[in-house]
Amino acid sequence: MSYSYEAPVSQSLFDRASQVTPGGVNSPVRAFRAVGGTPRFMVSGTGPYLTDADGREYVDLVCSWGPMILGHAHPEVIAAVQDAVARGTSFGTPGEGEVALAEEIVARVAPVEQVRLVSSGTEATMSAIRLARGFTGRSKVIKFAGCYHGHVDALLAAAGSGVATFGLPDTPGVTGAQAGDTIVLPYNDLEAVREAFHRHPGEIACVITEASPGNMGVVPPRPGFNQGLRDVCAKNGALYISDEVMTGFRTSKAGWFGVDGVTPDLMTFGKVMGGGFPAAAFGGRADVMAHLAPAGPVYQAGTLSGNPIATAAGLAQLRLLDDAAYAKVDAVSAEIQGLVTDALAKEGVAHRLQTASNMFSVFFLDREVMDYEDAKRQESFRFTAFFHSMLEQGVYLPPSAFESWFVSTAHDERAVERIAAALPAAARAAAEAAEATA
Ligand code: PLP
Repeated sequence: MSYSYEAPVSQSLFDRASQVTPGGVNSPVRAFRAVGGTPRFMVSGTGPYLTDADGREYVDLVCSWGPMILGHAHPEVIAAVQDAVARGTSFGTPGEGEVALAEEIVARVAPVEQVRLVSSGTEATMSAIRLARGFTGRSKVIKFAGCYHGHVDALLAAAGSGVATFGLPDTPGVTGAQAGDTIVLPYNDLEAVREAFHRHPGEIACVITEASPGNMGVVPPRPGFNQGLRDVCAKNGALYISDEVMTGFRTSKAGWFGVDGVTPDLMTFGKVMGGGFPAAAFGGRADVMAHLAPAGPVYQAGTLSGNPIATAAGLAQLRLLDDAAYAKVDAVSAEIQGLVTDALAKEGVAHRLQTASNMFSVFFLDREVMDYEDAKRQESFRFTAFFHSMLEQGVYLPPSAFESWFVSTAHDERAVERIAAALPAAARAAAEAAEATA
């Protein structure tokens, strides 16, 4: 498919990038493969806006896939970074910033008694799983189809359909042995979880789940689902790991825990807590965390863990995220959600907008989406048309129908007006879209 608008500088950068980097990008979804066209190379961001290499400005509804909850280049975050950077960029020793960031996390999220800082969400989930296995002395892990926990080998296993399906590697390079201890179940299906525990008594180390999934589009847990996981884990001596890399410090001051109040044994964080820098964390029960080196035998380490610039940025961002900030993000999110559904309804486009506090996404189908199989039933070709129309009109959406949209405190009236102005044509494009035939 070709698009009527052009981005010559981005295109030439993409051509250069493709020579030296596989697929031209450093993380696959950035390549626009799901929607086609030229990925935009961004050169700057201010508040709710991004500017690309062709000098075009966009209202940003990706926010770096979640982290930029205060918008781009927030003056206080930038000042904290400048202050930290002037004092050196990495020491390989403990520093006060790490302590302060850990204290901030512990103060906000009640189930976190101790926390270890790492550099990416992937590292956080990988380490949490290792710790759960080390703590329980068991090997199997339950995860849910459609939940993404980073590119951890054992968690890159997808399900065939059906209950208690053993994970098959989802990518070359992950061996059967690495994925073989992963049990992949349909999301929101508590019975499938009970059945898996029944089939594997004493073998399951942990259940890991996105606290409220955003990686198959937004598919919140059914009422009682997370509590059910909590209870079934407790009953069977397994740990319940809530992955809050996406929802943490975004869906409320205490993340999704602040919304549903279900207490995990371990939690993982990233994105917002790094203020746009590579900082992430895992934490939870002190007796479990005590098994981590050097306090305990489970090894885990990192040259740049607790990096002083990243911790300064994260701390500055978290300290600005008070109740008023969350109220603002929630309100602007609700306003945009309303505009999107109105525009699509007006054009008669079958759609379902799902939310998890201020996270939301649109599925192009007309029923509730409870799991990954439901999500895959949507008419993604309509999203493609919608996406490109929005892009052409200066609104940057996630370049895939299976991703959450993100807003920030910086999305003001002007930004919302620009979204509102773009929506009618985009909704029309979605209505008129036809599935490509091979
Ligand atoms: N867990 C969840 C829920 C995520 O959404 C992501 C990334 O999107 C990760 C883990 C992995 O984080 P990272 O990309 O920082 O490795």
